[in-house]
Amino acid sequence: MPKLNVPGPKAKAIIERDRAVVSPSYPRAADFVMSHGKGVEVWDVDGNRFLDFVAGIAVNSTGHSHPKVVKAIQEQAEKFIHISSDYYHPIWVETAERLSQIAPFSEPAVSFMTNSGTESVEAAIKLARYHTGRSQFIGFLGAFHGRTMGSVAFTASKAKYHQKFYPLMSGVTHVPYPDPYRPLLASRPGEDYGETVVRYIEEQVLGRLHAPDQVAGILIEPIQGEGGYVVPAPGFFPALRRLCDKYGILLIADEVQSGVGRTGKWWAIEHFGVEPDIVTAAKGIASGVPFGAMIARQSIVTWPVGAHGNTYGGNPIACAACLATLDLIEEQYMANAAETGQYMMDALEEIQARHPSIGQVRGKGLMIGIDLVKDRDTRAPAAALRDRTEALCFQNGLLVMGCGPSSIRMAPPLTLTKAEADEGLTIFEQALTEAESMSER
Ligand code: PLP
Repeated sequence: MPKLNVPGPKAKAIIERDRAVVSPSYPRAADFVMSHGKGVEVWDVDGNRFLDFVAGIAVNSTGHSHPKVVKAIQEQAEKFIHISSDYYHPIWVETAERLSQIAPFSEPAVSFMTNSGTESVEAAIKLARYHTGRSQFIGFLGAFHGRTMGSVAFTASKAKYHQKFYPLMSGVTHVPYPDPYRPLLASRPGEDYGETVVRYIEEQVLGRLHAPDQVAGILIEPIQGEGGYVVPAPGFFPALRRLCDKYGILLIADEVQSGVGRTGKWWAIEHFGVEPDIVTAAKGIASGVPFGAMIARQSIVTWPVGAHGNTYGGNPIACAACLATLDLIEEQYMANAAETGQYMMDALEEIQARHPSIGQVRGKGLMIGIDLVKDRDTRAPAAALRDRTEALCFQNGLLVMGCGPSSIRMAPPLTLTKAEADEGLTIFEQALTEAESMSER
């Protein structure tokens, strides 16, 4: 397959200008300079076409510029763009009603609207402290919850997210994520690894470090995103829910990356048969318009007027985009995520059979991780191979993004067709084959 000439001259010129005036702290996945997009396809400023299996990190859930989302934004923009959360408006209430309908609780839900994932997590942390009157939290190694001072205290996927930023919010204790592929703790004979992690929390953290009545909440990604698209061991969530119930600790599911239909259900935690107390959402909820929500069981939203707020909460354009997105996902794309996701998993398992460098293919729906290893027995991460594969995918017209120590994540729009899946996976396998031939893993 002939490689694209990327970055082309126009892209290079933009990147040069960017370097002069945009904060160098942004991590960039590739020298992709976007011109426009439609569905799963995107084009750069030099006219190169790519298939987008990143979707702005699980954000463009309905594909790029879905006509119904564009129309909803346009129609709302003509009515009014902003009024501030100090007043009321109908589309905001409608959005909150809709979120209450899809929230994974058996009681009504109340939403606090935000502009991003990190802000949704901050709201959850504050509500948990406010409602319980307790100060401590438990988070997980490998987690990503955002970069503001509260959420970043929970983020534990790369040390650089903390380096030189101390002191962060206090009161967060990290424990191993229940990753059955690379367990950090030893299980007892016959014990599910998820139960091992919960036993560790109860015996070691609650038993030796923080009395349970000091712990406000446990914040967890139901499928770990940035940490490697890791699916927890099956016994984990039921055991965690029992632990939370026993000690009155709130279970907070960070669904910023995994939520809103991506895994084939509205929320990834629904795959594990338990209800959380708070859900945080953003990314795919409004197809790319900055929007998020902290959705909580009504009975725990006990804070009074003024305890928490923001200027843009319930922004009407974001709400319009959100409602159009939720309609599309409900009518069509959540089912497609389940079906095309399974199709992708099956195809990737066939690819895995041809490539010993693929240690594990995992995920739910269209949230798929491919873990590259130096050796299937030791499961040692093949980080260099992953980086080369990602770069070669880009040169061959496919956007994918790494996550975790050595995984490639595939989080395409939920509109993905089987033909698009085939095209992308063909490019992926070619890139992997070429990367494997280049040097050691
Ligand atoms: N939580 C999770 C699970 C995420 O994946 C992310 C972003 O990747 C965030 C929170 C933070 O979201 P944002 O970048 O919108 O602040």
